[in-house]
Amino acid sequence: MLADLEAINARLPLAQGGGLFKLTIKDGKWSTVEAQEEIVVSDGHVPISKLNFEELRTAREIDLQGRVLLPGFVDVHMHLDKAYSITHVRNRSGTLLEAIENYRSVTPTFSKESIRERIVKAALRAASFGSLTLRSHLDVPFHLGREVAMRTVEAALEAREMVKDFVDIQYFPMYFYDPAQERRLTDFAEETLRMGIDGIGGAPHLAPDPEAGIRWAFQLATGFDRQIDLHCDESDDPELKTIDVYCDQVQLHGYSGRATAGHLCSLSAMAQKEADRLIAKMAEAGIGAVTLPAVNLYLQGRGDQGNVRRGLTRVKELMKAGVPVAAASDNIQDPFHPFGRGDMLQIGLITAYAAHLAGEEDIVTLLKMLTNLPATIAGVPEYGVSAGNPASFVVFDGMSGEELFQELPATRWVYNKTRWIYASELKRQWTDLLSSAVTVSL
Ligand SMILES: [Zn+2]
Repeated sequence: MLADLEAINARLPLAQGGGLFKLTIKDGKWSTVEAQEEIVVSDGHVPISKLNFEELRTAREIDLQGRVLLPGFVDVHMHLDKAYSITHVRNRSGTLLEAIENYRSVTPTFSKESIRERIVKAALRAASFGSLTLRSHLDVPFHLGREVAMRTVEAALEAREMVKDFVDIQYFPMYFYDPAQERRLTDFAEETLRMGIDGIGGAPHLAPDPEAGIRWAFQLATGFDRQIDLHCDESDDPELKTIDVYCDQVQLHGYSGRATAGHLCSLSAMAQKEADRLIAKMAEAGIGAVTLPAVNLYLQGRGDQGNVRRGLTRVKELMKAGVPVAAASDNIQDPFHPFGRGDMLQIGLITAYAAHLAGEEDIVTLLKMLTNLPATIAGVPEYGVSAGNPASFVVFDGMSGEELFQELPATRWVYNKTRWIYASELKRQWTDLLSSAVTVSL
């Protein structure tokens, strides 16, 4: 039987040897993955750069001419509901506190439709850069009223339905634990989980009683058998250590491999001995870590002068201890971070600078922080370019892993859910492909 697609001269930097491969896809799955000795010249295979989007979608034999192919990026920590809100809400001081306050003050004015539109735009743009699994935290300010909090949840679920043929999204609402409202908050959280929310999020270091908040999150997670992903210690204060209690709870509930800690900024600020203790504890507990370099560089160290702290967690030390560390986007064009576009190559480049991961031997590590490691953290099944797995990938107009960070190639071709879904040169295609009434400008 004929394959649906055959591609020659694909460079796979994540594969053994990082060399060239001939690949075939059948029924949306990788059928064969065969190493090539060298570039193959074939009259039958059309160079991908010569095909427009329509031609690409019907082509059966293509030549990647040595271009890099990666499994779709997994952006495991985003805030899709806040993305692109910066025109409505600013942050003059550049601090986390002002971002939270300003965002909270305008939240009740956002309609469900406007939140939904921002999520669709952010998700599709991310997919256009090659991110095919997204995990988004959601702002659910229950203290502003149940209706306000539920608005975001409904918008998020509707948006996911609209983009489901292009990109997968997991949602982890940031439930803000307040003992005075415990019963009502638990009712609300349980309802959202029944509606289709995936896991439990939160930022216990911002709550008056972080320990109680973490225990409550585990009650909810274990009751519904869901993953937990908490913002941890997003601060320059070395005394903030909610990760300590988080590790205890992960061990108590047997949540190894199902719990994620984002940020961990204070880990960088504390003394070496204490950081060593916590890193070893995280490794033993089996917690995954996510570094959010763009947002940390923007929000942290705002109280410092001279040698300003950069906020980033101890990426190399965590990895050396065996903790899986992913890099992710966090906020995009909102008061928490005015820049970004959901492009994991850009995040990889910022990580390379901020975590000193720029040696030749670090390139594969960086690529893994955007692909395999977040895929493990997010529990993406059958991930990667190997026979039997879903063919879900991005091809770059670059010839090596290093060149991806040198050039941030604008031209990308993205394949997911049994077909090509995007080619960079045709930016209007999302609107053509979306059957719904939403208008998205990219
Ligand atoms: Zn975040």
